[in-house]
Parts: sequence; structure tokens; C-alpha cells
Amino acid sequence: MNQMHMEVQVRLKCRACDGQGVVDSPAWAAWRQAYLDYESITRMTTLAIREFWHAFVAYKRLHPQPTEPEELPCRVCRGEGAEYRWVTLAQLLAGPVLAGG
Ligand SMILES: [Zn+2]
Repeated sequence: MNQMHMEVQVRLKCRACDGQGVVDSPAWAAWRQAYLDYESITRMTTLAIREFWHAFVAYKRLHPQPTEPEELPCRVCRGEGAEYRWVTLAQLLAGPVLAGG
């Protein structure tokens, strides 16, 4: 018996960027991690902040910030925030596709 095979295209939120279409630049993440610890900055006294600022300026001279943008288009969804997948009606009705599986 010849069963009809039918597929539909579903639009799913991109899991790589959580639908944002952009991801944080790894270069910026590395730069921040190497120097900036926001948590500790908020706990600093005024004097410590001033010292931190001088150290920060000195550091920036040695380690310039990355020139690329802080956010890059997601490579998985090419900035669209969504993935498209062809699935059979049976797969769609079974559920896991819509649950992100
Ligand atoms: Zn994406």
C-alpha cells in the first residue's frame, strides 16, 4: 500500500542564540573575563575604583579591546533567530519536534 508522505516546514526558535539572532563575541567575552569582574567592581570603595580605573587604562593600552562588534550574528540561524526544519506530519504530531527535540 502506497502511503502518502507529507512533510511540513516548521519554524523553531534557534537554540544557539535563544531566538535573539546574535551571540556574544567570543573575543569580547575573553577580553572581559581577562580583566573586568563586574561583581567585584560593584563592591569597591571610591578609592579602589580610582585605582582600578588607572589599572584599567594601563591594561587597555597593553590589551586593546577587540575591534569586532560585541555581538555577532548567530552562525546557526544566520541572524534570523529561528531554525527551519522539514518534518513529517507524524513527527510533528508526536510532539518532540515542537518541544525542541
Ligand atoms: Zn541563532
